[in-house]
Amino acid sequence: MLTIGCHVNFGQKQLKGCVEQALSYGANAFMFYTGAPQNTARSPIDDFLSIEALNMIKENEIKLENVICHAPYIINLANNKDLEKYRFSINFLINELERCDLLGIKYIVLHPGSAVGLERDDAIKNIIYALNIVLDTTDSTIICLETMAGKGTEIGTTTKEIKTIIDGIIKKERIGVCLDTCHLNDAGEDISAFDSYLNEFDKTIGIDKIKAIHINDSKNPRGSHKDRHECIGYGTIGFENLLNVIYNPRLEDIPKILETPYIGNDEDSKERLYPPYKFEIEMIKNKTFNPNLMEDIRAFYKK
Ligand code: FE
Ligand code: FE
Ligand code: ZN
Repeated sequence: MLTIGCHVNFGQKQLKGCVEQALSYGANAFMFYTGAPQNTARSPIDDFLSIEALNMIKENEIKLENVICHAPYIINLANNKDLEKYRFSINFLINELERCDLLGIKYIVLHPGSAVGLERDDAIKNIIYALNIVLDTTDSTIICLETMAGKGTEIGTTTKEIKTIIDGIIKKERIGVCLDTCHLNDAGEDISAFDSYLNEFDKTIGIDKIKAIHINDSKNPRGSHKDRHECIGYGTIGFENLLNVIYNPRLEDIPKILETPYIGNDEDSKERLYPPYKFEIEMIKNKTFNPNLMEDIRAFYKK
């Protein structure tokens, strides 16, 4: 069965709000940040909302392993030049894993980090050290390392680099990988030859380590190291290549999560932004590209 979903907002209604949004888009999977992605301000988990959410998840036959958390981007486990910041990142990630536990969530996606002023090898050692502490301090959540575009000094831009990190992890059963099609493209991988990428990944790390896939088109050409997401079929990767990833038989049970950009309410004004997910999911289910995607989204939400 197709497992398709998207990024949703963990607002005041927390996990319950997330489920409502996912259902409104026709999704059977979703991903959320426990607060704003770019900061670490977090409100306490409301148990009543969580219980209601978990009931809704069950009633709607969403599998709990297809509900995924994403750690905020400001966590950087790669750089320890500022020890205070490094420790903060470690402690914050521990808190995030504990929040996942409270919510009943099994997987959290993490950007491995950026080397900033360090050698890449040293940055990787820092990531390994930090992850081992985090996994040793927590009980069950599985950390999925995301493949990165290589913007700035990002680590995790090649299968080999991800493999080196995993090799250093003691509790290997608690580490997985999240592929991101925009990031892979921008890092230099050819999504039109996705099967040969998967073969290589399987030889190096093992396909069983892939726990989630971010499905995004890219605004930039292959190898650009830019990391700017585009709506499905509207970027340089293209609809057919993304469909081949989504419907790849070797990744059938893995949740596919859209992180595509919101659409402005008309060509010129960006005052209000509308989520594209309902219409992108429709296109994916129909396996047919919608050349009027933007118009359809605006017409639906404007009303
Ligand atoms: Fe990410
Ligand atoms: Fe992503
Ligand atoms: Zn990205």
